[in-house]
Amino acid sequence: MIDTILVVEDEPKLARLLSNYLRQAGYDLHCVENGLDVLPLVREKMPSLILLDLMLPGKNGMDICKEIRSFSTVPIIMVTARIEEIDRLLGLELGADDYICKPFSPREVVARVRAVLRRSGNQQQSGVVSLLLLDEERFQATLHGRDLELTVVEFQLLSFLSANPGRIYNRNQLMDRIYPDQRVVSDRTIDSHIKNLRKKISGVSPETELIQSVYGVGYKFDANQ
Ligand code: CA
Repeated sequence: MIDTILVVEDEPKLARLLSNYLRQAGYDLHCVENGLDVLPLVREKMPSLILLDLMLPGKNGMDICKEIRSFSTVPIIMVTARIEEIDRLLGLELGADDYICKPFSPREVVARVRAVLRRSGNQQQSGVVSLLLLDEERFQATLHGRDLELTVVEFQLLSFLSANPGRIYNRNQLMDRIYPDQRVVSDRTIDSHIKNLRKKISGVSPETELIQSVYGVGYKFDANQ
């Protein structure tokens, strides 16, 4: 079955460029320029994935994303003009599956579309979650039957990230989660805990990259391994 991508973009040149690349990659396309036209089209065409620009005439991408999430789990990739904006969007918990910053290479967009589609298609069939067992009382995590020997902080990070596979969290969100008493810790602290956690995971299962870093943004748990 051919996947249909809905491109929501009000810059005609960019919309054309994206459409050409996605068509070449083998997808069917629908394009919309005005934010007000998105929801009716989503309901009618039920696309496999939506590339959603943030700044649009009619209605902005944030509101559109929230409204779509009230009735559909269709994968959404948000497209923004500023990398700083991604942090703010993450904080709003809109439910988007990925974020892309302009300017982008169309090739990169096609790669992200593929990855998100693969992830959403595999979500049900994934086996790794059942191979990762978390004992919340003892802070004990086992992967493929072997104890990961995590510290409490590492366990909490793994437990939090794995509760929402595919969802990207920035460092501040992780810090709030791990240090709710607002202790002063630097971004680096989270990075080094994640680094140790990944090392322990790969020590047990070298092929498994359960925790992936999202460049310039943060981390996510990938259940499709
Ligand atoms: Ca725009």
